[in-house]
Amino acid sequence: MNGQMMQLPLLISSLLVHAERHHGEREIVSRRVEGDIHRTTYKELATRARRMAKALARLGVQPADRVATLAWNGYRHMELYYAVSGSGAVLHTLNPRLHPDQVVYIADHAEDSVLFFDLTFLPLVAAVAGRTKSVRHWVVMTDRAHLSKNAPADVVAKIPNLLAYEDLVAAEDDHYAWPSFDENTASSLCYTSGTTGNPKGVLYSHRSTVLHAYAAALPDALNCGSADAILPVVPMFHVNAWSLPYVGCMVGAKLVFPGAGLDGKSLYELFESEGVTLSAGVPTVWQGLLAHVEANNLRFSTMKRTIIGGSACPPAMIRAFGEKYGVHVLHAWGMTEMSPLGTVCAFKGKHAGQSQQERYAVMAKQGRAVYGVDMKVVDENGAELPFGSETSGDLLVRGPWILEKYFKGEGGDPLRYSDGDGWFPTGDVAKIDADGYMQITDRSKDVIKSGGEWIGSIDLENIAMAHPAVAMAACIAAPHPKWDERPLLVVVKKPGTDLTREQLLAFYEGKIAKWWTPDDVVFVDAIPLGATGKMQKNKLREQFRDYRLPTA
Ligand code: ADP
Repeated sequence: MNGQMMQLPLLISSLLVHAERHHGEREIVSRRVEGDIHRTTYKELATRARRMAKALARLGVQPADRVATLAWNGYRHMELYYAVSGSGAVLHTLNPRLHPDQVVYIADHAEDSVLFFDLTFLPLVAAVAGRTKSVRHWVVMTDRAHLSKNAPADVVAKIPNLLAYEDLVAAEDDHYAWPSFDENTASSLCYTSGTTGNPKGVLYSHRSTVLHAYAAALPDALNCGSADAILPVVPMFHVNAWSLPYVGCMVGAKLVFPGAGLDGKSLYELFESEGVTLSAGVPTVWQGLLAHVEANNLRFSTMKRTIIGGSACPPAMIRAFGEKYGVHVLHAWGMTEMSPLGTVCAFKGKHAGQSQQERYAVMAKQGRAVYGVDMKVVDENGAELPFGSETSGDLLVRGPWILEKYFKGEGGDPLRYSDGDGWFPTGDVAKIDADGYMQITDRSKDVIKSGGEWIGSIDLENIAMAHPAVAMAACIAAPHPKWDERPLLVVVKKPGTDLTREQLLAFYEGKIAKWWTPDDVVFVDAIPLGATGKMQKNKLREQFRDYRLPTA
């Protein structure tokens, strides 16, 4: 016997319809490429998204066609999130920090038909426009006047049939009804950032996106409500800005988009002027913000929480936010293949009475599974390690917003690892404590294997990051004749500080098993960062391939 409830598909357009009807006056504020602060509302967003949906149809975009963006976080990008997916096409967010060759590779692989871009990326688009196979229309996300004033004619000339976003919107009216279709229809496409191999496409569905947004908004997840003003620093060009553009509509929160202004000063100004209560981003972004706030002796007057994930958040950062600035850090973990949310480190009731010290120890973990995601850690034979086990192993996940296969079948069957019982191998090495808090100890490719035993590079990096003279630290495996591999610490010092190898190594004493202590420290000017702001340890390993440790 079936239930007798309405069969309404979970469609992305329904989020926008809800926001327009129930939170129509709520603001969306953007720092624009044009240089000013732009203000709009959900009502206006919905109107313009409908116009854009009509414009897409006029450009010949059909259901399932891929429509690409190369854009910062802003209201026009948000309009495309809804106009493209809502009309049945697939929003393909491209990462503008990639090399032009990679952009061409990914755009060709995705078979993008239209490409929208912010004026900032004009040089990149000029470099790829003559090379992509499928893009029929290039649309710059501004108005014609701004384009003429700010774009060199010789660069513009390299882009065939360049259209201006505002011309497209102005040419349409907003009489458009969002189509209804199967909720399993593809909605958006994002390629993995390729820190471990060629980028592969992850194709989300309307159903997976809406379910993920429900879960993301929950109190023990990102905890978002209509009273919040949310500033996603995490880019809309990578994994849907952790779902915040969808959650915004779902709960009616004010949204504040930083555009290209991702430096500490620009972010701080927006936090304060727009009354931001919640933000989200990768650790490297918060480093810039903290440095600015510290140097200028500033305080946050409205910001209460920030979500930090994408790579391990150093405990020293969690403490700095909490103790100096009264901002609660929610450590989160996920990946492109998981839409991205997997775990968030929200406290269980039992931690209420614990000391601050104990609570900080919990907060350093990546957190508990959000409902919809199940996870387990297995040993090298695939046997599950119980919660509370001290041994780390491979982390596997499953759930309705977790990838089953990559776009066009790249990479074969990712679930093959799990003997047909449908678990996705994350490539992360982790353990889960008795309360269900998961802690990533490494990425399988980054693991350091010394004498057959694992050394957790993240722990070693976290300790280095707690040293006041360290700006950034990466720990990689260096070849060793006796132990196979030993940890080598690569460090960027804070400007104006003096730190020696010996002082830093002494800093490890008593904090870690002695045999885990790095064998050597090298100071460098910079550590290579990938397109999503993560340290590229594969590049570092390449750079130090022939490095000889002092004991070797
Ligand atoms: P890519 O896999 O291409 O780097 P993702 O952005 O999908 O791109 O990265 C997912 C990976 O990032 C995870 O598998 C994990 O290794 C790492 N990661 C994400 N969040 C955290 C976190 N809070 N702590 C440690 N590692 C994290």
